[in-house]
Amino acid sequence: LATPVEMDTDVLQLLAKVVGRDDLIVDRDLMGAYETDATGRFGERALCIVRPSSSDEVADVLKVCGRASTRVVIQGGNTGLAGGGVPCDGEVVVRMDHLNEIASHEGDPWHLVAGAGATLAEVREAARKAGLEFALDFPARDSATVGGMVATNAAGPTALRWGPMRAQLAGLEAVTATGAVLSRLVPVSKDNAGYDWPALIAGSEGTLAVVTRARLRLHTPPAARDVFMIGAANYDDAVGLTSCLRSGLGSRLEALDFIDRPSVELVCATRRLREPLPATHGVYLVGTVLTEHEGDGPALELLARELPDLPDEAIVGAVDGAGRRRLWEYREAINEALRARGEVHKYDVSLPLQRLPSFAAGLTEDLARRPELAVYLYGHLGDGNVHVNLLGVTGFDRALDDLILERVASLGGSIDAEHGVGLAKRDHLGLTRTDAELALMRDVKRMLDPVGILGSGRVVVSEERP
Ligand SMILES: Cc1cc2nc3c(=O)[nH]c(=O)nc-3n(C[C@H](O)[C@H](O)[C@H](O)COP(=O)(O)OP(=O)(O)OC[C@H]3O[C@@H](n4cnc5c(N)ncnc54)[C@H](O)[C@@H]3O)c2cc1C
Repeated sequence: LATPVEMDTDVLQLLAKVVGRDDLIVDRDLMGAYETDATGRFGERALCIVRPSSSDEVADVLKVCGRASTRVVIQGGNTGLAGGGVPCDGEVVVRMDHLNEIASHEGDPWHLVAGAGATLAEVREAARKAGLEFALDFPARDSATVGGMVATNAAGPTALRWGPMRAQLAGLEAVTATGAVLSRLVPVSKDNAGYDWPALIAGSEGTLAVVTRARLRLHTPPAARDVFMIGAANYDDAVGLTSCLRSGLGSRLEALDFIDRPSVELVCATRRLREPLPATHGVYLVGTVLTEHEGDGPALELLARELPDLPDEAIVGAVDGAGRRRLWEYREAINEALRARGEVHKYDVSLPLQRLPSFAAGLTEDLARRPELAVYLYGHLGDGNVHVNLLGVTGFDRALDDLILERVASLGGSIDAEHGVGLAKRDHLGLTRTDAELALMRDVKRMLDPVGILGSGRVVVSEERP
């Protein structure tokens, strides 16, 4: 799909007609912010940035690009960690921030309808104003958008209790690569009439359609939320505690994350925080317990009953807002602390919970041969989701990718848990998906995007263009 210069000029003029001159950015200096991502690893020169203001404008942008065979990448808040939302050379970046309207009480008081460009923080605030809550929350909340969250099927700590973004969807509006606007925003909670295409678009990382609006489920806020931190000697103990907490607390356990010792040390040094517990530990568990109704009994007492043998110095709890934020800060601040040290090489994987200790031990053994690397592990323990973060890797390191992702596959895990495949892991998709599954994915992609303009080369690579 080489694009001759004269065709680019035509495309730019046509795009300016669709979105207006002010929402077509071609100035190299202004484009820079949209061309690199939160990891600092991905992104090339874009042809231009366009900022449509409605679903119809999105459709017209895609029609213009489709006719010219000009590739497009969709960008929400650009907090993605898999390289899926930043341009490859010469792509048009479709930035979704103008589609940010939020409407509460749209036919169902337990739903809200949000534009793709609304941020997670804005959705949470709109839900709060309606006296309700949106289930998901994670540190990129001020920038991550509804469209990006649907596209990556984002999750975060509370997905343990409420499920990922796909589970929060009561309806969707999206535009296919050919410019067809698909709308399923009716205010019903159950809808089995025909194929569930919104479920297919969720997690498709901008390769099948552009999300323009979403009908999101809300829930009643719990009566209380208590936070705890527990120190475990090692991953075997951490997994044992997890099984105990999950079976003992059931649906009252809203979140259960883990942080390894190097990550705790990094956050303490960067944020100038005190040690979270009186003694040091190999692995730290941080979690939230809900009291859904008054009279359910204090959550932290229930927790103490479930863990009678835990020494006092290995557990701390918080019931007030400041205390809760303080304990979660050790987990939430890791990303930023790592980024401050340079380029971060990230793997977001999931494993059957019982195999997490083998994974961690194998990784330590493998990486001992690469002393230049600093390894930080944390993640959503209750879901078996591990974020492997490495400092000291320069550029792309295929041997390292193979080593880590093959180990995950050999233990029966998944090479991607919640961040997306994007460009980062597309060459490894075959490790955990069969040839038949990959062929189906390519067929679906070809059907919805026959010219191959949308997020091309991300997630699943077409056979013609390896
Ligand atoms: C500090 C930090 C913490 C994070 N924590 C978590 C976490 O706990 N859980 C988690 O799941 N993720 C987490 N992330 C990753 C990231 O925030 C999520 O993947 C988020 O969903 C991306 O949203 P975005 O709007 O920034 O999307 P972008 O980064 O802009 O794009 C991500 C992908 O979605 C596609 N896309 C974006 N908008 C649309 C649209 N409207 N239609 C179709 N495709 C679209 C893009 O093409 C790209 O493939 C974290 C990131 C950071 C920086």
